[in-house]
Amino acid sequence: MSQPLPSPDRWIVFTDLDGTLLDHHSYRWDAAAPALRRLTAQGMPVVPNSSKTLAELAALVTELDLPWPVVAENGSVVAWPAGRADATHELGGRRWRVQFLGRPRADILATLAALRAVRGWRFRGFADMTPAEIAALTGLDEAAAARAAERLASEPLLWEDGATEPAALSEALAATGLQLTRGGRFWHAMGRTSKAAAMTAVAAALGRDFAIALGDGPNDAEMLAAADVAIIVHNPEGNPPELPPEPGQRRLHTRAVGPAGWAEAMDILLDTASEGESHG
Ligand SMILES: [Mg+2]
Repeated sequence: MSQPLPSPDRWIVFTDLDGTLLDHHSYRWDAAAPALRRLTAQGMPVVPNSSKTLAELAALVTELDLPWPVVAENGSVVAWPAGRADATHELGGRRWRVQFLGRPRADILATLAALRAVRGWRFRGFADMTPAEIAALTGLDEAAAARAAERLASEPLLWEDGATEPAALSEALAATGLQLTRGGRFWHAMGRTSKAAAMTAVAAALGRDFAIALGDGPNDAEMLAAADVAIIVHNPEGNPPELPPEPGQRRLHTRAVGPAGWAEAMDILLDTASEGESHG
């Protein structure tokens, strides 16, 4: 932190959820609540940036009482808190205006169906599965599985055609302007976007030019690498994100785990900024 931090009215915070803002096991965020209140008191945007669906995120951001947009489905969707006049989705007791950074799911499903018909590949997506099947595969209960299946702009799929890597499907999707990314158990067919691309788009839309990103795992690496401050939240149970050297980027590794690490890092940044102001 050699360079002084810019004024906090230029900051915007992007955060992963599981293992970062939410405890890996209990999904609680109590330990981060005081730091979240500090940010809210300053009017600081805090934007969840997740692989989850809007249906999964909506109830959570209502509980967190965050008035900001959310990024869902790995950068494919940005959902903005909506005014009454907007054409909207109602989820989690709020209305949302949905912006597609990737491609609508109907386009993705049509492309997948055409490839399956022409190439004879065997794979199954959430659209081909019952909620009970999705629940069994993900370990979610059926209600949670239904929320995970309520997708707007990406399709998780299981490759069931023998080869370990669906390289041919990946190439075929790329030729149509889509991409195949690796999740945990599933592959994800989606438009050409990413958590990092969504971060840049939302920061620009909100007029903020200093992005702070928090994450705990390999699927956060791209978002962390693209931020001005990368906060790697300690996760003793997973692999850390691998970040290429980025001269000039501020990086902070938390000592505490999950939401306690989230609060530790945000308190350090806010304290550093207010010291800078009182000295300057
Ligand atoms: Mg995580």
